[in-house]
Amino acid sequence: MANSDPEGVDGVRMTWNVWPRTKLEASKCVIPLAASIAPIRPHSDIPTLPYAPLRCRTCSAALNAYSRVDFLAKIWICPFCYQRNQFPPHYAMISETNLPCELYPQYTTVQYTLQRNPDPNNPSNAPQLQPVFVFVLDTCMIEEELVFAKSALKQAIGLLPEQALVGFVSFGTQAHVHELGFTEMSKVYVFKGSKEISKEQVLEQLGLPAAGRRLTAGYPKGLQNGYTNTVVNRFLLPASDCEFTLNSLLDELQTDQWPVQAGHRASRCTGVALSVAAGLLGACLPGTGARIIALVGGPCTEGPGTIVSKDLSEPVRSHKDLFKDAAPYFKKAVKFYGSLAKQLVDQGHVLDLFASALDQVGVAEMKVAIERTGGLVVLAESFGHSVFKDSFKLVFEDGEQSLGLCFKLVLIKGYKVGVQVDVAWGERLKGIYKRNSSVKLSFSFFNFSFSGMLEISCSKEIKVQGIIGPCTSLEKKGPNVSDTVIGEGNTTTWKMCGLDKSTCLTVIFDLSSTDQSNVPETVNPQFYLQFLTRFAA
Ligand SMILES: [Zn+2]
Repeated sequence: MANSDPEGVDGVRMTWNVWPRTKLEASKCVIPLAASIAPIRPHSDIPTLPYAPLRCRTCSAALNAYSRVDFLAKIWICPFCYQRNQFPPHYAMISETNLPCELYPQYTTVQYTLQRNPDPNNPSNAPQLQPVFVFVLDTCMIEEELVFAKSALKQAIGLLPEQALVGFVSFGTQAHVHELGFTEMSKVYVFKGSKEISKEQVLEQLGLPAAGRRLTAGYPKGLQNGYTNTVVNRFLLPASDCEFTLNSLLDELQTDQWPVQAGHRASRCTGVALSVAAGLLGACLPGTGARIIALVGGPCTEGPGTIVSKDLSEPVRSHKDLFKDAAPYFKKAVKFYGSLAKQLVDQGHVLDLFASALDQVGVAEMKVAIERTGGLVVLAESFGHSVFKDSFKLVFEDGEQSLGLCFKLVLIKGYKVGVQVDVAWGERLKGIYKRNSSVKLSFSFFNFSFSGMLEISCSKEIKVQGIIGPCTSLEKKGPNVSDTVIGEGNTTTWKMCGLDKSTCLTVIFDLSSTDQSNVPETVNPQFYLQFLTRFAA
């Protein structure tokens, strides 16, 4: 019978289920040692534990079913670094017949729910972080295209969950931040398109305080839903409250009114507009999930992120130009989007790009910010084309085919969840392959999460080369980090900004080059891997 669930409970699939012992043997494998992992894929057989995992004091791997336990001395030995760890007092009842759930051999994956740091004075006052969507709309388009784009936006806003917060930025020669909370008339903050602008400058110009890291000292006063009141009331409003304002604003919104010289491209400040959107999101508390959804109709020609001059006699750089290093704007633009990526990753926010144009729009330059934040790219030739329309709708729709960005479930307040997976291999010579999975308990309360962190622990013989997929290396060096990097490497810890239950990453491993296989006492009979994901749901 065909196995319909090859990843099993753990959500892990390996290229090899039996691993070579040495670097030499590994080098003979044509297919690399790799694992595709779905960090938070739900499964009804994963138990949920209402306490924090015990971590090894040397390597910080979590206590698991492969740890050796001395019940008399109340000690567990870490299978990764062989550190002997004392059990804390609340594990005093542990015995061979009274095991905590994480030590049951069948629970290779467990989930822990942790309390978010509550307000010590009023624990029920912990803010519930609502997801934020900031739409960034290019207005340098022909009238017909802008009508298509506006209608898609209206549809998307109608599909968002009522409590999701929405912000709106439009841009052409300049970037405009619309104050949606000011309903008496349309009020706009204008940012010059030609000048690079920092997050601090954006917040200052909008009159917003930076959120900073005040979370640890309890929640600052004047917070509503985890945001400063000024952001919530002025720029980011619940979808249900601002749908009408935003719809009438879109009805009135015209194409960019700045004159375009004959023989020239429109002046389009995509870079500044995205910086401004990212800066606005900088006013949200750490841990807030947010996406910038950019609808772009052509190349950036103004200010930071420019990929081509305004003069139409100069064509947009081609593959050949990039290959020959003959694209004069390329490096500077990539550097700019690289720093935007860093800001977004620090904030834990995602950039999605929907571009519709007959010519190029500069995805080669922008892609670093999209890839590192786990965003989406859709390219089409028109905002009226079904490639754009259907894709855009699918992103926001809540259904079988949806990408899960929109959620209708009530999220459990202030909980943090971790997933742990262990896989063990038998000794190669004996060819034993062991992987356990079994039944119990269920969970289904999360459907959606915006950002998370992945840590990988592995036996000392194993090196991590890197990860291919929507994540960013946090450059946490250690003995298990390989010198050769594939994808996002040089680390054993990664940040994932656009994390959801269908997120899948491929981890590439290598074996340590020190060949100790002929020294019998150093031979490790089994290799272990642990994937630990922290995320807010
Ligand atoms: Zn350890």
